[in-house]
This record gives sequence, C-alpha cells and structure tokens, in this order.
Amino acid sequence: MMRRSTIALLLALAACTADADTGTSDGAGDAGDAADDDGAGDDSADDGATDGGQPDACEAEGRYGDGTCDGACALPDTDCFLFFDDHAAADEWFTGYEADLAASESRPPRALVDASDARFAAMRELLERGWASYAVERPVGALDRAPELVVIDDPGVNAFVAFDRGVEKIGWAVMVQTGLIELGASEPALLGVVMHELTHAVDRHVLPDAGERVLIHYQVAPGEPEPLGFEQEDEPIARAAVAAWRKLGGEAGPYPLAELHGIPTGSSSLMTRVFNATLQRAVAADPDACAAALDRIEPFNQFLNARISPLDGLLAPLDEPERAELDLLSGDFMAALRDPCTLASDLDLFPLIAELFGVTVDEVLAEFDPSDVELVEGLPIVDQIATLTDDRYRRMREVEAMLVEDTGLDTSSLRYFSTEEAADDSTVPVLAGMGFPPDAVGEFFLAILPPPTRAECADLLARGDVPPYGDLTDDHHAFCFRAYHVAALADRVAAPATAARAPHTARPDAAEAYRRAAGPRLPRFWRPGDDTRSAWLAPPRQGPPPWNR
Ligand SMILES: [Zn+2]
Repeated sequence: MMRRSTIALLLALAACTADADTGTSDGAGDAGDAADDDGAGDDSADDGATDGGQPDACEAEGRYGDGTCDGACALPDTDCFLFFDDHAAADEWFTGYEADLAASESRPPRALVDASDARFAAMRELLERGWASYAVERPVGALDRAPELVVIDDPGVNAFVAFDRGVEKIGWAVMVQTGLIELGASEPALLGVVMHELTHAVDRHVLPDAGERVLIHYQVAPGEPEPLGFEQEDEPIARAAVAAWRKLGGEAGPYPLAELHGIPTGSSSLMTRVFNATLQRAVAADPDACAAALDRIEPFNQFLNARISPLDGLLAPLDEPERAELDLLSGDFMAALRDPCTLASDLDLFPLIAELFGVTVDEVLAEFDPSDVELVEGLPIVDQIATLTDDRYRRMREVEAMLVEDTGLDTSSLRYFSTEEAADDSTVPVLAGMGFPPDAVGEFFLAILPPPTRAECADLLARGDVPPYGDLTDDHHAFCFRAYHVAALADRVAAPATAARAPHTARPDAAEAYRRAAGPRLPRFWRPGDDTRSAWLAPPRQGPPPWNR
C-alpha cells in the first residue's frame, strides 16, 4: 500500500489552473470545530428573523454605520460594504481583484465586458429590477441602492460576489460571467441566480469570519419524505459525520476507494491541487518520460467517467470485477507516473504546498500535524501524495462504517443546510413577490445540466421523486436536487409544515469518535478564490476531466 498517486486530471497540461475559478468550496473547512458549537440555523435560515420584532442590539448600540463592520448584526451593516461611485469604479476595482485571482490560479486575467455591450445592458436591467424587489422582500438594512454589475468575459456559467481583503469589505457588486447570460435561461431563472448572489452579499456569507457555512445537519432514511433543511433540528451524529466527511473529502476527494491507489479526486481537493502541479511539472520537464503515464490516464478516466452519475456527481457502487479493473488501471497509471515520469523529480510535498499557496515552508510545517509529516517522510513526491490521500480515504470508509453502526444508515442519508441552500431558499419569496414562478431558479439548475441529464432530472421531478442529494463535499448540493428543493419550498409557502421528525440520538462519545476518525487537519492556506461565493462550485476552466468534478 505504498504506491498511490493522485489525480489524474490533467489533460490540459499546459495551462494549469488547478482550481475552480470562483471556487469556494470549503470542503476542507470546518471539521475541527464541528461538534462544539451549535450555531445552527439562526437568521440566515429564514427570511423573517431579522425583522421579527426582537430588539436589534446593533441598532440599540449604534453599531450600524459607525465605521466598523459588524458582520454578526441582524441586518447588513453598511460598514461591511465597499460602494462604488459608478460602474467604471466597480470595473476598476474588479480588475485589480481579478489580477490576484488569476495569479493564484496560474491563468491570465479575464477581460470585462463594456457597459455598452447588449449583454451588459440586459443583465443590468435585470439586476436593477431584481434589487428593487429583493429590498422589499428581504431585510437589507440601510443598503439603499442596487449593487453594481461587473460582466466577465468567460464562457463558464457562473456568477459570484467577493470580499476584498485589501479593504476588508464586501464589494457591493455582482459579478456575472458571459456564459451565464448566454445560457439562454429565462428572465426569472436569471433573476433567481442574481437573488442567490445578493443573499451571499446581503447576509454577509462572504465575510471571512461569517462562521460556519453548514448550519444544520440531519439524516433522511430511504423512503422517508425529504424535509426542508432550515426546518430541521441539528442532529449530533449527522453533524459529526458530515464534518468528518467534508474535511477528509476536501483533502483527498469524494471517492474513498482503496482501488484508487491513493489517486486524489475532486477538482478542488488539496491533494488534487498538489497532484496536478506535480504531474504538470514532470510532463514539462520530460514529456517522453511521462508519455506512458499520460497514455494510462485515458482508460482510467474513461472507467470512472462511465460510472459517475452526472445527476449527483457520485460514483456508482462498483461490483467485484469493476473493483479489480479499477485496481489494475490505477496501479498501472501510478506505476508509470512513479517511474519514469517523476523519477527525476525533486519535488517535496511541503515546499510544493508552500509554493502553491504562496507561504513559507515553515508556515506549512507549522500547520501540518506531526503524524502527517512522519507518514510521508523520505518518500518520493508521488508516494507522499498517494500515502496521505489513501490515509484520508481509509478514514472516510471508517466514518461510513461508524455511521452505519450508529444509525443504520450510510452516508447517502446525510443532509446539511448550508449558506448555499439558504441563498437558494431566499430566491423563492423574492421571485414570488415579482410575480414570477417562485421556483424559477430551478430552471437555471436544469439548464446548466447536459441535455441527457436534464431530461433524466425533468423525469424525476415530473414523477415527484426526490433526486439524489449530491456530493457532500460541495455545500451547493446537486443541481437536480436544488431544482427539486426550491419547488418543494415554493409549495411549502402555501402548505403547513410536516410533523416534526424524531432526530437520531447520539451515543455519548459519538462526536469524539468521528473527530478521531477525521484525523489531523491538513493545512488550508488562504487563496483569493476563497473570498468569493458563487452560484455553484465551478470546475476548473481547463484541466480535470468530468469524473473529477
Ligand atoms: Zn452560492
């Protein structure tokens, strides 16, 4: 078990960008503190909480607009926002922001679309109109104007908002990529995406100290009606298991199979980034030596691609012959990667991580757990990556087994209400207030799916089935599930809540047991993309094949 490697992604070796463009997954985030605080489900969960009649402490203490951003206030504090005099000022601001983002992703900065462009004008009109209704339907405090619009020339379908570390404020602008405008989605569907982003800004999800992105954890048994996240009780076992799974998956990837030989998965997992950099450099240094490894990526990717459901991004269960085949494919790929591809590589895990994140080696070592350092000491780079990745996969399987033992349910039962789900939820009352179908953002989620998957999702929804929830390491959940969810929420607006569910009870030492399984944290150094929140977790613009998303 000493040979593993990493992710295969790289078909596009040239231009790296190992990471999601607006990528913000914090899959590697919140594990350590998982069980302790129960910051669960406060106001971001429901629209009315901030104007529900309780006294507003920030108001009473004069903390709004006093020059200091109070991110935790019930209403948005204007001190938390960077306002722009005009569109040109917003473009200028974002141009500087994009330079950092691009540098951190090893890609050229993207161009902005001029305000005279028809796409800009159309989107601007939507944003103005959307804001007018948003400000009526949701608590926006003293925010008295629509955010500026920045349109980025990028075929990727996405939109996002951003926190600016330089001035420590949220840019009062919504960034929209041309791919989103050109998708051909309906006006209400586009407005839904705009509302999602407005909520990330207005509810201050994008502040670095905004707190946990996952607010409520629970489990749903097969056949049990799918409840709405914000209405649930936080369940300690689900909380502990989700935290462990997200932490480990954020480090290694979402498919914890021993047969992967330690090849990391997931487009933005930490080990994926390191693996991509390793392979890219080895190929650049000696293409001939890496030819065999590159050849073997193909069948490996094809095998996985054929078994990953586009409906939820998860790998179908493998039978014995399939496991044997994957074992062979992974082993062959890793063997060629180790020798000759990276044989001459003098890369070392810690200096490489330091370089990728722009920090010193000492800073990296200070963040690593000693047991991790020991685990990889003296190994060639490929084996360092594979050993750590395989360790995380093994821990994920341990979490799975523990959850089954504790609750009789596997990890497919796990659910969590995240700030992403809260942002989706916020679109429902606003779209309703505008006279549009309240679940119209669901059209966007369907439109973004490849046609065959879109048809499959539409069939599921038409039958009233609950689509698969998605990869737990992405706090956005799967597109088809999101479409289902906003429709369910829209129906609920008029319907009474279902009876309270009985939460799964925890054994006394459960949280500690899951934390132990989650193991030591890998360091997670800040990158500019971490300060953005997008409509979905975008895959890298170039790089990983689909299985890796
Ligand atoms: Zn989002």
